[in-house]
Amino acid sequence: MARYTGSVCRMCRREGAKLFLKGDKCFSGKCAVDHRPTPPGQHGQARQRKMSEYGAQLREKQKARRAYGLMEAQFRRTFERATAMKGVTGENLLQLLERRLDNVVYRAGFGASRAQSRQFICHGHILVNGKKVDIPSYITKENDVISVRQKSRESEHFKILREDGTKRVLPKWLTVESDNLTITISAIPLREDIDLTLQENMIVEFYSR
Ligand code: SF4
Repeated sequence: MARYTGSVCRMCRREGAKLFLKGDKCFSGKCAVDHRPTPPGQHGQARQRKMSEYGAQLREKQKARRAYGLMEAQFRRTFERATAMKGVTGENLLQLLERRLDNVVYRAGFGASRAQSRQFICHGHILVNGKKVDIPSYITKENDVISVRQKSRESEHFKILREDGTKRVLPKWLTVESDNLTITISAIPLREDIDLTLQENMIVEFYSR
């Protein structure tokens, strides 16, 4: 599957927001957005000008897509799925993105970033209801139990996690037992549970043009 391989901090600077793509570095004093809050490139500062309505909608869509680490085709498919669901399309979209297995592993603090969480899943370290699931885009359901495979529990990363516990502020729709390396989806996330500063209605408008 195609994947972005360039500088991830560049994406945050382009969107003018912290997208938390680099694990611990994002919470340190070394974040590029904190130090250079201008768009990337030689003329980044000079390029700052009033944005058109279309430009603002595009940026909002790109911000969401980049935060969750999806390529355009995959993001569009998620949007189409959200459109087919009952309820408000923008909220459905965010809910589907939050319920992705890679996001759940990240939100619980089992991976330092969504990219690392995705790697754990692809390498077969993660189980859903006792069965290996190696698909990062798997959409979790209420009462699903996500855990770490027995063999992987002895790795340095998961040993430290078991001893020190998760460092992440946990969303209320997840129940996390770090010492047991399990995450339970205790509820389907609501819009107010999703702490991203996104205007999802602008993403809907972007795709509805
Ligand atoms: Fe974005 Fe994290 Fe890099 Fe800061 S450190 S620019 S939040 S990826």
